[in-house]
Amino acid sequence: MPIIVLRDGEAAGEIETKLAEAGAEYRRLTIYNKHIIVAWPDDKVRQAGIDAEPTVQTVIYTRTPYMLTSRDFIERSSFKVGRAELGSQDLVIVAGPCAVESEDQMLEVARELKACGVHAIRGGAFKPRTSPYSFQGLGEEGLKILAKTRDETGLPVATEVMDTRLVDLAARYVDILWIGARNSQNFFLLREVGRTRKPVLIKRGFGMLIDELLLAAEYVILEGNDKVAVIERGIRTFEKSTRFTLDIAAIPVIKKKSHLPVIVDPSHPAGTRDYVEPLALAAIAAGADGLMIEVHPYPEKAKSDKEQQLTPREFKDLMQKIRRLAEVLGRRIP
Ligand code: PEP
Ligand code: MN
Repeated sequence: MPIIVLRDGEAAGEIETKLAEAGAEYRRLTIYNKHIIVAWPDDKVRQAGIDAEPTVQTVIYTRTPYMLTSRDFIERSSFKVGRAELGSQDLVIVAGPCAVESEDQMLEVARELKACGVHAIRGGAFKPRTSPYSFQGLGEEGLKILAKTRDETGLPVATEVMDTRLVDLAARYVDILWIGARNSQNFFLLREVGRTRKPVLIKRGFGMLIDELLLAAEYVILEGNDKVAVIERGIRTFEKSTRFTLDIAAIPVIKKKSHLPVIVDPSHPAGTRDYVEPLALAAIAAGADGLMIEVHPYPEKAKSDKEQQLTPREFKDLMQKIRRLAEVLGRRIP
């Protein structure tokens, strides 16, 4: 499918007219420092005959169902997460509790995480629980606590958005939005976070193909938001010894297909804290650009995912191993 890269961002009217006349759909975007027009479907774009237009620098025909996430478009993409550049040589560590439970809980764990050198703090304010009777999160109160955590630590804070109605609200309080595994094919939600200019992390649904994950990211980028990364967090297989099966192979596969940074969440596939460290280290060894890890000041008291959240002490030990491994692999932890 074609991406029309423009020589001059202002002089695209002629091309748009031709595309419209040929019955093609198109979207003009400025992303990844390029002025482009994304147009579809193929046959109508070819019919429009815009290749020879003087304002067209080049037309990239991608070989994949996704274009903006494809490496046919750009080789690698990256964006800032605090002092680190996700998608570069930097290894980016995001950590924090499954859910925001109180101001004390957040500030206590955030101080410890900051001392360990993390780049961003996570915490769920709206929790996607399997049962409606389980803890549902603190809602806006949780977002306020996250904002306070950012103010106290100087670190960016990340939270999950579950619904289009929550996107503007969450974007007012936090720095990074993520889409949870249960919502990564909620296309209205993907478009809505795409309309913000906040970094967006998209978790792979546990029944989702890699190509479907890349198409989910495509939805976000097509709205003009180019700060997008994907998160492998385990898929459902027949194996029951772990909560989900971490698809380690997804890391090199995504890196081959797409320019997007890849983060791994070792906590949710592990399901129990014993497996978090080996999965985290394996992910880095396989080429992940970052990790998202659940850490709670008192996991035994956690209101969700208590079995898998690390104590700050365990996390500190893990960070030391991550640093040693990063050195061997030539990755930087700024
Ligand atoms: C979470 O990050 O707390 C979470 C619910 O993860 P997932 O959407 O991957 O299940
Ligand atoms: Mn969780």
